[in-house]
Amino acid sequence: MRKKKPKAARKPKQSIVRFPGRPAKPAAARDGGVIGLRVDITELKQREASFRLLFDSNPVPMIVCALGDERILAVNDAAIQHYGYSRSEFEKLTIRNLQAFDVEPPWAGEHAGDERAAHAWKHVRADGALIDLAIYSRQLVYGDRPAVLLALMDTTERKRAEARLTFMAQHDGLTGLPNRNLLRQQMDDILLRSRRNAEKVAVLVLGLDHFKAVNDTLGHGIGDKLLRGVAKRLRSILREEDALARLDSDEFAVIQSGVTRPEDAVFMARRLLDAIADPYLLDGHSVVIGASIGIAMSPGDGDESEKLLKNADLALSRAKNDSRGTFSFFEAGMDARAQTRRKIETELREAVHTDALRPYYQPLVDLSSGRITGFEALVRWPHPERGMISPAEFIPVAEETGLINAVGGLMLRRACTDAAQWPDDVRVAVNLSPLQFRVGNLLSLVVETLEQSGLPAKRLELEITETLLLEKSSEVLATLHALRALGVRISMDDFGTGYSSLSYLRSFPFDKIKIDQSFVRDLAANPDAQAIVRSIISLGKGLGVTITAEGVESEAEVNCLRNEGCHEGQGFLFSRARPNAEIVSLLKTQGNWSAPAGAALVA
Ligand code: C2E
Ligand code: MG
Ligand code: MG
Repeated sequence: MRKKKPKAARKPKQSIVRFPGRPAKPAAARDGGVIGLRVDITELKQREASFRLLFDSNPVPMIVCALGDERILAVNDAAIQHYGYSRSEFEKLTIRNLQAFDVEPPWAGEHAGDERAAHAWKHVRADGALIDLAIYSRQLVYGDRPAVLLALMDTTERKRAEARLTFMAQHDGLTGLPNRNLLRQQMDDILLRSRRNAEKVAVLVLGLDHFKAVNDTLGHGIGDKLLRGVAKRLRSILREEDALARLDSDEFAVIQSGVTRPEDAVFMARRLLDAIADPYLLDGHSVVIGASIGIAMSPGDGDESEKLLKNADLALSRAKNDSRGTFSFFEAGMDARAQTRRKIETELREAVHTDALRPYYQPLVDLSSGRITGFEALVRWPHPERGMISPAEFIPVAEETGLINAVGGLMLRRACTDAAQWPDDVRVAVNLSPLQFRVGNLLSLVVETLEQSGLPAKRLELEITETLLLEKSSEVLATLHALRALGVRISMDDFGTGYSSLSYLRSFPFDKIKIDQSFVRDLAANPDAQAIVRSIISLGKGLGVTITAEGVESEAEVNCLRNEGCHEGQGFLFSRARPNAEIVSLLKTQGNWSAPAGAALVA
């Protein structure tokens, strides 16, 4: 306990309430026993007894202390219980001995007259615990001494609850990191400091790559643990003065201060990516996750927090689109590109709504007989101003926005309905996006569509890309097996472009492999491409699956493919994708057509 400061006794300033201290000498005895006064004395005694009762049994802790030496003169039971001191211990203390910090008591100094107002104090209980108090004070006379009556309202819990609420409003519940709100405040401070010191600030927005796949395949529990692990690693490599926040489900922001050159941010980005890359051991699973980073720097890319965050986010989209696992700096044109993308999204939504998308069909040709075995349905968007828009431009937008499910459903229905009118031995191939497997109703969609269109299952081929199997979840495989059990054929599209093509061939019995057009390009003149194509063909033959070469554009390519024993070809040499009306007439002219091998079927 602190020593009390010696101080001059103060006189009570105003409205004095008499309060009984030790039993006072009867007034009548002092005043010579005048009869008339005896009534007053009885009344006074009754009043004093009421006051005492009010004090002693008050549920609010109360203390009376001397105004001069601040010694505690009386305490009620609630105070004894609350502070943990006995009555006799209390009487050896001054009010200052209870205070956690040596501050002027509210009845001293300029606020002396302000007796009823609550003052926030911190006291120490007998067990050493700190408590927050709102203290109401009132001056009175206790025994014959000027004193102060203190009512002490414990606000510790309320303050804790308030602090918890404030914390929750500013932090992310999962990782405990600051959220976007707090980050903005911290950024404002950092930016202000950097302006004074003529330094730059780098804003790095980091997005985890394929985090959704972790949630979908291993469950949200592991997803949450992964996010906590990532947060911990990020924090561990940052300096105290760098801010870190979680912005969104799989997005974090790092604010790097004291930057002088862009290379400083590059160095930081590399360290962040390295820190994340090591595997995480979570509930017995070894989980590997990559990340991409977008960087914006003040003052060039903005000098206030909102703009810098937005620009770093645009740079992140670029990093994700280019090649994940890397970083990208904000560039001036990004905003315009993002706007174009948003425009595509709005217009595509409208096109889906008004049923403006159409399948075009590109023939798949048997290389030994020259006959058309089927057609691949490729989506086309006839845009009122821009003409035909390539799916390469809008499929990624459809996938990002979830519109792909509507596009995919629409294509499947149209393709099956059209193909049902084609000859019985002509199949139709429809591309599926990995996202359509995540919705969970793909199997029933296919069953219903086949039923409604009347197309036999064996005439439908579904093309999937390797990225779908990247997720290799048991649900995806179960759906593929169920589709195949219906009689639908499953093709692996763009074979050779992913990283694990071979292992995927083991995980599912595909009916067809489509060699990606990048291997077919200039096949005749490129021995490396020939070696790859030869291996894929022999691999496919070993597995008993049909091999189709995509992107066949020249006689030389088709000859080469035929020599290697490739079954099917698809490409501009045979035909571009065409609307259904042309397909029907094309098939009519084909009749029992056996075109000279490799000759263009359609001009
Ligand atoms: P994909 O499934 O590999 O389709 C083949 C692409 O190669 C088509 O481009 C086709 O027009 C093009 N192509 C065909 N022959 C040649 C050739 O000889 N030379 C060259 N250079 N290209 C050729 P398209 O129609 O632009 O489609 C691009 C991609 O968009 C498709 O690649 C597919 O992944 C996606 N896509 C198209 N329609 C759909 C759809 O309905 N659903 C989904 N999920 N994706 C689709
Ligand atoms: Mg395809
Ligand atoms: Mg392809």
